[in-house]
Amino acid sequence: MIDKETLTEWDKKFIWHPFTQMKDYMDMEPLIIERGEGCYLVDVEGRRYIDGVSSLWVLVHGHGKKELVEAVQRQAESICHSTLLGISNVPAIRLAKALIDFAPKGLSKVFYSDNGSTSVEIALKMAYQYWQQKGEKKRRRFISFANAYHGDTIGAVSVGGIDLFHKVYRPLLFRNRKSPSPYCYRCPLKLDKDTCGTACVGEFEKVVRKHKDETCAVIIEPLVQGAAGIIVQPEGFLSSIWKIARENGLLFIADEVATGFGRTGTMFACEKENVKPDFICVAKGITGGYLPLAATITTDEVFNGFLGRFEDFKTFFHGHTYTGNPLACSVAIANLDLFRKERTLENLQGKISLLTGELEKFRELPHVGEVRQAGFMTGIELVKSKKTKRPYPPDEKIGQKVIMEARKRGIAIRPLGDVIVLMPPLAIDEETLRELVKVTHESIAVATGSANK
Ligand code: PMP
Repeated sequence: MIDKETLTEWDKKFIWHPFTQMKDYMDMEPLIIERGEGCYLVDVEGRRYIDGVSSLWVLVHGHGKKELVEAVQRQAESICHSTLLGISNVPAIRLAKALIDFAPKGLSKVFYSDNGSTSVEIALKMAYQYWQQKGEKKRRRFISFANAYHGDTIGAVSVGGIDLFHKVYRPLLFRNRKSPSPYCYRCPLKLDKDTCGTACVGEFEKVVRKHKDETCAVIIEPLVQGAAGIIVQPEGFLSSIWKIARENGLLFIADEVATGFGRTGTMFACEKENVKPDFICVAKGITGGYLPLAATITTDEVFNGFLGRFEDFKTFFHGHTYTGNPLACSVAIANLDLFRKERTLENLQGKISLLTGELEKFRELPHVGEVRQAGFMTGIELVKSKKTKRPYPPDEKIGQKVIMEARKRGIAIRPLGDVIVLMPPLAIDEETLRELVKVTHESIAVATGSANK
């Protein structure tokens, strides 16, 4: 066993961590995980932490789940990888059938990849090529939303809308049209949620009317803009956007990478507003957090647009080496089986209500501006001034301070800027959920200097 000091030294010497200012990281005591047990992470010194963001929003049934570990083991003994380019494999076929059974009606074809960003790239490329092959050559743009996050590859960044992450790449990106984000707490239209009549839907309609002839598709994170800070859309927003897109003949891409597999309380967020997209992009929870896998699921209509003689070159010329990896597909099948067997979604409903109740306590804290929740996706936005909604200056690193307090108290969470995110595994028990919320509350109070006030 390598000791903690050596691991720390090698970590700092050899790893460039994602979304991490490495200069700060060099001065920090790193958290080095060795094992997982249910909803807990265990570090190399045996300290236990509640996995409060589900290891980046992926964990469903907990770590070390027997059925999932065994699915990987069984498959590994059979074959770990074979390509899906022109040939097939048993788990990929079985999973595709299972995914179509679970997916919103009208979706019938599964195209695999291995992470959320690629599942989005694939939807964008398919939508574009679909129109090109239909002879609608002018359709080259997408409509997306301010504050959107669809991944880190260049196509996904092109339809993204978070300046902090995306601005520097602007010269490399393809142009598209942006509609305002439904961020009611800081409404871009400067309106009030109670009286605005969801004016942002009207703004979207204007963008669609103006640009529909040059547009391939609309892309949206349904119900919640995740990475922007768990921005929960007002009720009816998603279905209104979908109806407008449909009435104007545009394809609709629902990026369910974060929201899929029960995160918002239903299997897919689109179900909540009875939306039937032309594409859904899924990743994260698809394997319950066991192996990297993603899928872009689309309709017969889109699929048929790619059929032809070989020499017509209508083929979708896209595929990754590990597309349809049998190990990942096997564990995804076992993950979906557990949803049925353990009635994961039914059991979740009471825990969502419990979380809603517990979150009330945060509203009293003097530096909590807004508490947002969609099922098991939670964002607590911290502000310097509650009255003016003035944010903390970046050099206060308030989000980071909170998570370090939480870490001392046995909780592993990661903020999105000044938004503290709670995204527990769906299988968390009530007691652990209560503990997660209690410690987060305490950590916010301490870090913002409002404990015992
Ligand atoms: N889309 C959404 C909505 C996401 O939240 C994310 C990741 N947080 C992605 C795409 C990108 O997924 P990945 O990190 O697996 O590439």
